[in-house]
Amino acid sequence: MPVDDNAAGGRGRVAFVGAGPGAADLITRRGADMLRRAAVVVHDTLVPAEVLAVATPDARLVCIAPPQPGGPDAGTATGLLLVELAGQGGLVVRLKGGDPTVFARLAEELAPLRRAGIAVEIVPGVTAALAAAAAAVVPLTSRAAASSLTIVTGHEAAAKGALAGDFAAIAALPGTLAVYMGVEQAAEWSRRLVAAGLPGSTPVTIVSRASWPDQRIGTTTLAGCAADVVGQGWQAPAVLIIGGASTNRPAAGPLAGRRIVVTRPAGQGDEFVRLLEAAGGTCVVVPLVEIVDPESWHALDAAVRVASAYDWIVLASVNGVRSFVDRLRLTGRDARALGTARLAAIGPATCRALEAAGLVADLAPATFSSEGLVAALAEAAPRSRFLIVRADQSRGVLRRELEARGHHVDEAVAYRSRPVAALDAAARAALDRAPVDWVTVTSPSIARTAVRVLGDRLAGWRIASLSPVTSAALRAAGVEPAVEAAEATGPSLVTAILARESSTTGPDGSLHPPTVGRTDSSGAPPGADTDIIG
Ligand code: SAH
Repeated sequence: MPVDDNAAGGRGRVAFVGAGPGAADLITRRGADMLRRAAVVVHDTLVPAEVLAVATPDARLVCIAPPQPGGPDAGTATGLLLVELAGQGGLVVRLKGGDPTVFARLAEELAPLRRAGIAVEIVPGVTAALAAAAAAVVPLTSRAAASSLTIVTGHEAAAKGALAGDFAAIAALPGTLAVYMGVEQAAEWSRRLVAAGLPGSTPVTIVSRASWPDQRIGTTTLAGCAADVVGQGWQAPAVLIIGGASTNRPAAGPLAGRRIVVTRPAGQGDEFVRLLEAAGGTCVVVPLVEIVDPESWHALDAAVRVASAYDWIVLASVNGVRSFVDRLRLTGRDARALGTARLAAIGPATCRALEAAGLVADLAPATFSSEGLVAALAEAAPRSRFLIVRADQSRGVLRRELEARGHHVDEAVAYRSRPVAALDAAARAALDRAPVDWVTVTSPSIARTAVRVLGDRLAGWRIASLSPVTSAALRAAGVEPAVEAAEATGPSLVTAILARESSTTGPDGSLHPPTVGRTDSSGAPPGADTDIIG
């Protein structure tokens, strides 16, 4: 039955729709129905693409940038925009992450609509606290331990003293607290809650990106949560569920009780951290290299301008994909600029990064290394033109091999990875909180940096190496890996750690001689860097 989305007088209507926490099947049926009928969808950045895809292709999508601190009142501005769009007729859906009534500036957006007399409807959504509790399987209320649920923002803890009184009242409630926007100010609000009388031992469950594919779940205590947020690299969006019926569940799984230091740059070790945590391990994220822009974009921009002239564009890492896609966009181009050039990715993570940018890899090798890629490209037509998008330090294997086969090769530096100079105070504190069992080392440059900045600490830890070139760099620096991944991927490295854990824990907990999953360190110069996890 056709539905008339025009209110009386031909003006449109506005529906505030809760998109839910992230997973596309956590929007309500009514919400999805509204989306399908919308002429315009005004959404914010927390809303996932799959949910937006429910809208008809004809619908106009308007993305609202997150409000800038100290900037104009974003809520009112959006409200005025909604008035204007509704004036053009049809159904305007204002799609908000979670529920539209929770920390969503609804009051500010509603005011201009009310003043203009525009019909408004609200469709509820699953708010983040509920998604987080579901993901972690913790009750938010229980007859025995929690008779109330309080949703608070941790963000305003920054405003000095503003919420001091409220925190005292909150600490006195016999229930569970769900802290939204709490990651950045964790030190401040957790200190206030303890000062207001909540025991430092109160259990805290933290869930980031609840219901997204990269959801993370962890447990800590009120006293420990500020250090853990930094030390374990927790990032927004996350909800912290405190006390009440939230239980400090003992971690289960083969890595239960194990602490693993992850040395990849923030934002890059994420998949890896999830796998280790899924196996029950506790990760301490201590990046030993940082990814920075190349000294100049000149070479990459020049390559992007003539991208369609290449037969193959080889993306040697996730960072390479990011820079390449960014430069494509920033120079006013999109996928069409690639013409018939085919895309080769060095491994599965690079393929996924391409997919996230709306591009599909034409080729990904069976073995995730430069050598594997060369083998896979053996079928390339004679005298093909290649562009390799790479890091500043690179082993040069691809270029040499391709040129030896008579191909033309251009290279463009898309990013630099720079070793950190020293551990910062937060990293040292995180490492010192409890004994460490494992450290993951995922490139030769990380290997050298680990030996330099971690020094004697390494002696008591087992080292998990990503690849033969990484192991060679470790040995050259005087340390022996305990395991090496069979192929240079995150899952394979986790498998190597798990295999070692299940086979060799001695009665005295002593370290055992290394089990090397793959022994061909052939050909690779030990000093050369490899691309970190495909
Ligand atoms: N209207 C939203 C809240 C927006 S405020 C809702 O009802 O959920 C933004 C905060 O919501 C984030 O800082 C975080 O604390 C929380 N949040 C939103 N989505 C989340 C998710 N998928 N997982 C964990 N926290 C989330």
